[in-house]
Amino acid sequence: MAEHFDAIVVGAGMAGNAATYTLAKAGLNVLQIERGEYPGSKNVQGAILYANAVEALIPDFREDAPLERHVIEQRMWILDDRSYVGTHFRSENFNEEKPNRYTIIRAQFDKWLNKQAKDAGAMVICETTVLELLKDETGKVIGVRCDRDNGEVYADVVVLCDGVNALVGQRSGIRQEVAPEHAALAVKEMHFLPREVINERFNIADNEGVVIEILGTVTSGMLGTGFLYTNGESIALGIGCIVSDFVEKKINPAHLLEKLKAHPSIAPLIRGSEVKEYAAHLIPEGGFKGVPELSGDGWVICGDAAHFVNAAHREGSNLALTSGRIAAENIVALKKAGKPMSAENLKLYNQALEESFVLKDLKKYKDLPDTLWRNKQFVTTYPELLAQAAERFLRVDGVDKLTKEKEIARSFRKARGVLGLVGDAVKVARAWR
Ligand code: FAD
Repeated sequence: MAEHFDAIVVGAGMAGNAATYTLAKAGLNVLQIERGEYPGSKNVQGAILYANAVEALIPDFREDAPLERHVIEQRMWILDDRSYVGTHFRSENFNEEKPNRYTIIRAQFDKWLNKQAKDAGAMVICETTVLELLKDETGKVIGVRCDRDNGEVYADVVVLCDGVNALVGQRSGIRQEVAPEHAALAVKEMHFLPREVINERFNIADNEGVVIEILGTVTSGMLGTGFLYTNGESIALGIGCIVSDFVEKKINPAHLLEKLKAHPSIAPLIRGSEVKEYAAHLIPEGGFKGVPELSGDGWVICGDAAHFVNAAHREGSNLALTSGRIAAENIVALKKAGKPMSAENLKLYNQALEESFVLKDLKKYKDLPDTLWRNKQFVTTYPELLAQAAERFLRVDGVDKLTKEKEIARSFRKARGVLGLVGDAVKVARAWR
């Protein structure tokens, strides 16, 4: 196996496949190594796919990529134990010729994207785990060591796309372990139902989809969110909370999912379904503060391994696809210019990311994860207050409306105090800037 490549890509998820495809299409000799049985076999997502990140790689991907439904309606539900207060946005504009968001099943999509990389000329090896980076006497990364006999492979540059655990980078001393307060543990089930039942329950046509993002007391006082996404013939339902909150509260994630399934607003949507898959996975949710060094002598890091998830907008796959593509484009540019893959030259990748939405968005929300984590009232007190306010306002019981408004205002003041309310508003406004 002691062969030399232009580039080695570790991992065949969104970031790894985007990088491998871009490198191979430009004619580089690229080896991709994936520990799973096949690309996508180990990968978990909700999953909403953002089309523009795929279009930047493969403009006509819609012709044969495995896509479930295009999203025409987005709901945001804030739950207390018996109700939800929500917003819906549904638009006929999302029924466009080239829809903007799709639901997908990762095992199928990753396999398809990886095939495009193979067809472009990449060599892909599965069921092989990269253990660590190989370095020369100056510390420059010159290849990887895998869990195979004679498993040393060499390359000018290694593209690390090994996902949230990022063990290869950790073992090789180029990044730290993800802090427990910067990672969410998410659990997910697939609920199978006939297509017509899903269409009827969500008031949609055959290929149209609805996504529901869920906040509130269903996370049992921990910082986290739930989701419900419609696929063609299944519903993906999941919930994730910050790992250190799980540890502190001693709550079993599986119990949290049971609580979500039993909620009176969720149960009717999945009634009669057959559950066929259960998965658990980490999500890097520390935002910009969790981002490590992005490149060095002979290496770059992309996707979840680089902590590229915008938790505020539930985006991760697009940041992974984009960072993998941008890393590869800069490697191709260096290769074509005959320049070495030195730390100095690979900074091109960092600069390109700075100019892209990836780092711009993460920087915009840099204080949001910590602000929410330190102020649990946003996921406990406020959802309850909102539900009580809505119920009080809508119930027609002979109490005049002005009195109702005063009661609602009083309930907020009683729960948080005037200073607390102002302080909370300032905290959110600052973190959202
Ligand atoms: P991954 O997709 O995790 O891929 C990493 C790959 O590396 C895997 O194939 C793994 O097997 C391989 N690997 C790991 N270690 C090694 C090794 N040592 N050697 C060889 N191979 C290795 N994002 C969205 O945009 N929309 C959503 O709806 C959404 N929902 C989500 C719901 C859940 C429950 C979760 C967990 C995440 C969700 N995300 C979502 C985030 C999104 O899934 C990730 O941001 C995205 O998958 C990151 O892609 P990646 O390529 O960096 O990592």
